[in-house]
Amino acid sequence: MTESMTEAAKAKLLRSLLDGQLPDEHGRFGPFGGRFIPETLVPAFERLTEAVRTTLHEASYQAELAAELSDWVGRPTALSPMRNLSRRWGAEIWFKREDLAHTGAHKINNALGQALLAKRIIAETGAGQHGVATAAACARVGLPCVVYMGEVDMARQAPNVGRMRLMGATVVPVTSGDRTLRAAIDEAFRDWVTDPEGTFYCLGSALGPHPYPYLVRELQSIIGREARAQMLAKAGALPDCVIACVGGGSNAIGTFHAFLGDPSVKIIGVEAGGRGPGLGDNAATLTTGRPGVLHGTYTLLLQDADGQIQETHSVSAGLDYPGVGPEHAMLREIGRVQYIMAGDDETLEAVKECATHEGLLPAIESAHALVGARDWARQNPGTRILVGMSGRGDKDMPTLQTTLLANDGVLS
Ligand SMILES: *Cc1c(COP(=O)(O)O)cnc(C)c1O
Repeated sequence: MTESMTEAAKAKLLRSLLDGQLPDEHGRFGPFGGRFIPETLVPAFERLTEAVRTTLHEASYQAELAAELSDWVGRPTALSPMRNLSRRWGAEIWFKREDLAHTGAHKINNALGQALLAKRIIAETGAGQHGVATAAACARVGLPCVVYMGEVDMARQAPNVGRMRLMGATVVPVTSGDRTLRAAIDEAFRDWVTDPEGTFYCLGSALGPHPYPYLVRELQSIIGREARAQMLAKAGALPDCVIACVGGGSNAIGTFHAFLGDPSVKIIGVEAGGRGPGLGDNAATLTTGRPGVLHGTYTLLLQDADGQIQETHSVSAGLDYPGVGPEHAMLREIGRVQYIMAGDDETLEAVKECATHEGLLPAIESAHALVGARDWARQNPGTRILVGMSGRGDKDMPTLQTTLLANDGVLS
């Protein structure tokens, strides 16, 4: 690995990142990232990179995006003090409320931004949140939409399949491979290869080949920009600690980016610890993975000694991915962000605690960040903690019925 990186080299990478120099022209974040793709996709990626370069920061695109984020998505989302959790945990807890964004999670910030760059859209989805966000953005912008979704995820996230179809999307079941998010991304790439001219692949997280990690980070960074200004306005100070859950890493990178240059702010990403630390029992790529190439980027991956990608386990479909965005791999490497795990059981307990005491049902993904926040609060009493509440938990009712509610006997 890159254990040999010196402190000076790490500091230099952080400076480059803060100066807007990363990713570099090869799409690299230090040793991570890049673009590892079949020859057939090279022209499509060149077109996409050019569109991102010329359009993303252009005034008319930014004006249309800002208007739609405000009029249709409902931004800015609230920053809410969590008085009951603060009392229980002995620290000042604030939630950045992406659960209040249209379609129920942060995914819409990215899907809308990409739809405004596109023609026909294809997308992959795990929990279905990105599929729903993409279907909604396509309906709004007036584009046809095809969503690839693993069979396993279609079963456990049935309400989201219905939402996508109601909004006019074609949902294609993926029956190959692990039949979850990883296989869905494979299928979406396969579709793109067959029609790279007429198709835009709307990737749902800050991963994949360059320029996606950059594009998705830019579109999601609005979360942290809003939250930083809201903290200063409402709490009168920056948070001591910012915490978000990490699947592919989009809500976390979006939340973290505005705080990376604030040395007083501790930043923590929480991965799915699943059933435990063993290979195959979790989706904790940053804490237990090793470097390799998956879906066109060099990053940390869950793989065995032979480099075979391992199946993942998490109670939350949205975190169930054996890779992670390359920018997170770099932030871990240079030590700017700490990555920890939260297990299935403690996460489900956090769902319940938040719902019972704050009247807010978090997505199971987001509740991983709550476990991290509770533990940080206990170790650092009286501090100010900003939690990225990446989405709402309504979509998780089928899972919660068979876990929390079944255990409690509430159903009987
Ligand atoms: C998809 C999803 C995630 C995980 O994806 P990231 O790209 O890591 O943000 C987290 N929370 C919610 C609510 C999601 O829908």
